Amino acid sequence: MANTPWKKSHDLSLLPTGFHRRRFSAAGGVGFDAFIWRGGPGPVLLVNGATHGDEYEGPTLLRTWAEQWRPTRLAGTVVFVPVLNEAAFFAGQRCAPVDGANLARVFPGKPKGSPTERLAHLFDTQLLAQVTHYADLHSAGAAYQLKPWTGYVTHRAAINRAQRAMAACFDAFWVWAGPYLPGRTLSAAFARNIPAIYVECQGLGGVDAGDLRNLDRGLKNLLHWAGLTRGSAPRLRRQAVRITRDVDEAHLQVHHPAPVDGLFVPLAALDRRVRRGDLLGRVLPLDGGDGHDIHAESTGRIILLRRQRSVRRGDALFTLAPV
Ligand SMILES: [Zn+2]
Repeated sequence: MANTPWKKSHDLSLLPTGFHRRRFSAAGGVGFDAFIWRGGPGPVLLVNGATHGDEYEGPTLLRTWAEQWRPTRLAGTVVFVPVLNEAAFFAGQRCAPVDGANLARVFPGKPKGSPTERLAHLFDTQLLAQVTHYADLHSAGAAYQLKPWTGYVTHRAAINRAQRAMAACFDAFWVWAGPYLPGRTLSAAFARNIPAIYVECQGLGGVDAGDLRNLDRGLKNLLHWAGLTRGSAPRLRRQAVRITRDVDEAHLQVHHPAPVDGLFVPLAALDRRVRRGDLLGRVLPLDGGDGHDIHAESTGRIILLRRQRSVRRGDALFTLAPV
């Protein structure tokens, strides 16, 4: 059954109490489906998956909740968008093939830009603008594997406190907070002074059952923390926390780039502690030329590793975190 097209406006406060499905649309077939639980005045929590099309943990969690969750008492509004980037999702790719743009680099988008820019603009102006709290569920995608974490963009003190508390809800994950980078969903939330976090699951183009349980637990904790649901306060586990001022530290696409096109041979495992200069892997050119060794750029723990063995020059192979 097709979702009811939104009439007149996307004003969440005009919705009657209950569960709703709505499609948000922009020109050229750009759009996404949203599931909305309206309980009344109060906090408005927005959570989405598949900002990147090859990340399936968020969509799986949110689509399951959309099917099963019918709270009897809800103080506020909850909005889930299981798949934000439909064009990329159906292509099974990080970015939409139609324009090749990375949705997490074009925010706040443009009303008359490329399809990906229009999608960003639609999400930012029609949905994000109405919420009090935001979470974006990511993963390492099909080509990578990572050690799951949650993070946020450091902001002024009051917003940082809220973001730290939101990240604490996802207590099976470690925490990585860092400075503002442009173009992300969280950059748009930053500009609107909305406390926001992202969550990164392990990826590999699938859905790990343990990751899904941890995400589910985190979401329940978040609903309780925001005051949307009642019940006794959850006991949260302690997390490892890393807050950096280095803008490149958590910028995953820039570390240990492949020096040439070729076959990637990893020689170090995810979660391993390494020292600066340690051999992490090799890239073998297909023409039989000399292999290129990849050495650790710093001392730290391997928290992201490329699993796809075919690499193009410039593809990131490893990310280390000093935790
Ligand atoms: Zn992502």
